[in-house]
Amino acid sequence: MRLVEDPEDLSPSTGCAFVPTMGALHEGHAALIRHAKATGLPVVVSVFVNPTQFGANEDLDKYPRTLDADMAIAEANGASIVFVPSLHRVYPEGTAAATDLAARVPLPDVATRPGLEDRCRPGHFAGVQLVVARLFDMVRPSIAVFGEKDWQQLKLVEAMVRIAHGSTPNRWPSLRIAAHPTVRERDGLALSSRNRYMPAEWRERSLGIARALQVAHTAQRPSTAEEQMLATLKAHDFTVDYAVVRDAETLMPVTGLETRTRALIAARLTWPGGGVRLIDNAPLAIWR
Ligand code: AMP
Repeated sequence: MRLVEDPEDLSPSTGCAFVPTMGALHEGHAALIRHAKATGLPVVVSVFVNPTQFGANEDLDKYPRTLDADMAIAEANGASIVFVPSLHRVYPEGTAAATDLAARVPLPDVATRPGLEDRCRPGHFAGVQLVVARLFDMVRPSIAVFGEKDWQQLKLVEAMVRIAHGSTPNRWPSLRIAAHPTVRERDGLALSSRNRYMPAEWRERSLGIARALQVAHTAQRPSTAEEQMLATLKAHDFTVDYAVVRDAETLMPVTGLETRTRALIAARLTWPGGGVRLIDNAPLAIWR
């Protein structure tokens, strides 16, 4: 396995299977890397903590950085290259100018659905779209693997690539997006790089998210699912950003029962001197 910092040293990565990450790799990322490996293509894993997707008061400075451990996990799961571009390589014009540029590029509608991430983290998906597009330009993959854990992000990337495929010239002609299911701890907590912020005493409360998704899973109506998720999260001391049932593809509020739905949660746990914002999602049983 090679560590590559300069995009020019990536070639010939064209035709690879690509797993973009922000590092602090865990078993969820490892599963994505194995999924990429199973395609038979050489696997490129990027590690880049992208400043343009963090808001001013978010955790960019303390986001965990564990490159040596990340390299070991990438190698053990079959990666050929770990790509660690510098800030300057990704944003030669500087992050402020890049952010302005991103603000002028229309986001796919799924990224700005009312009541979801855009309300809580304005500008977040513009930064995600920008970095993913630049990474695709540098790596030129055939397949890029994303986790269902970040469902709205997955739908944004799928829409972005669909729009590219319908445009002339097609920016990433041979690219296909693959999704991998969320990897969880045995007790249901979705693996996340941010879980390591959590003191042991708060670990039990964090299960409120998995429990809320479980009650939503068996609910008979979207409104019941939403009420039960809220109650469960509050009982575990979460401050809820959203706990909603949406159309799984469009992320629009659900009006009928005929559509495939997804329960989506973002909620925060706080403790003296710290806190963590967790997101998760799951399908509802009766509208898989
Ligand atoms: P991140 O490093 O958190 O930006 O995530 C990089 C990729 O790993 C994204 O496609 C995430 O959706 C995916 N991912 C993160 N956590 C998990 C998980 N627990 N299960 C599956 N995929 C995950």
